[in-house]
Amino acid sequence: RAKAAGGSRWSAFDEDLRCASEARHSLEAELRRAIPAGEITPWFQPVVNAADGRMVSVEVLARWNHPERGMIAPGAFIPVAEELGLIGPLDSSVFQAACRRAAPWVAEGLIDTIACNVSPRELLDPAFSRELIRRLADTDLPATALTVEITETFLLQDLSLARRHIERLAALGVRIALDDFGTGYSNLHALLQLPIHTLKVDQSLIGGVGRDNRISKLVRAMMNAAKALGIRIIAEGVEDEAQAIFLRAAGCDRMQGFLFARPAPPEEVEQMLRDEAAGGGADTDRIIAAA
Ligand code: C2E
Ligand code: MG
Ligand code: MG
Ligand code: MG
Repeated sequence: RAKAAGGSRWSAFDEDLRCASEARHSLEAELRRAIPAGEITPWFQPVVNAADGRMVSVEVLARWNHPERGMIAPGAFIPVAEELGLIGPLDSSVFQAACRRAAPWVAEGLIDTIACNVSPRELLDPAFSRELIRRLADTDLPATALTVEITETFLLQDLSLARRHIERLAALGVRIALDDFGTGYSNLHALLQLPIHTLKVDQSLIGGVGRDNRISKLVRAMMNAAKALGIRIIAEGVEDEAQAIFLRAAGCDRMQGFLFARPAPPEEVEQMLRDEAAGGGADTDRIIAAA
């Protein structure tokens, strides 16, 4: 490494690039292998009722259980899967496994809905809603117990096409949730144009309630607007009791966040749901009772 300063800077730069592109290359190859191998599986995060803190539904969150690298969070592989055109097969396998796992929880009355994230790209795929309806028929889950979470980024591409797919799902009784609300561009437009059942207020806003006066006022106004429109509100990323107290007083319907429960493997979530139904175990209702 006894080079002139300029030269060594360049070679280090080249090396960085090569490493980044090699890492990227191996991630792609790994992902192509991992999806059919069933390494990407559903974890679940409980959502609680704001009024009494009881767990009432779950969101499905994909986790990649890599044989060498351990558990990988979706931020590291969902965008890559989208770019490679692998998000369809990925979501499909996570969806099927999640329904198989959680359909009994619905049947037993432990939860009222299972929320699955759907990539904006899929929403523009002509085969998407047909496929999802077919896959749903293969499971024991009633359409009315499925919530599809969408983000509004797709609106920048083709609202009318996305709307056709969404309306087809809604007609079957599938609930549509607008995810990460408060972070994008076309939120209000989407809200008015689509059959939205649930609004999920993003954690970037929820993190500020009770702390930042302007955010608190804005979130309270959002709760009131949703109520007036007959839309359910879920607060995402609730991490402390002060937020929960504020949100409950503001009329929030449901809450989700580390304060109540982190995403966990199916066996753990099932145990939490059963313990709570049996009247003990889970402490989310005590957190709320204390509030
Ligand atoms: P999302 O749908 O908005 O999911 C909520 C994210 O917030 C999850 O991150 C969850 O673990 C995290 N979270 C929940 N409560 C808290 C909290 O109190 N504090 C903080 N800091 N974070 C909290 P995760 O699991 O890493 O997922 C990230 C994103 O990846 C999801 O955001 C969703 O957009 C996407 N995603 C996850 N699974 C799938 C999937 O199967 N298919 C598709 N297409 N996208 C998925
Ligand atoms: Mg989501
Ligand atoms: Mg979200
Ligand atoms: Mg998100």
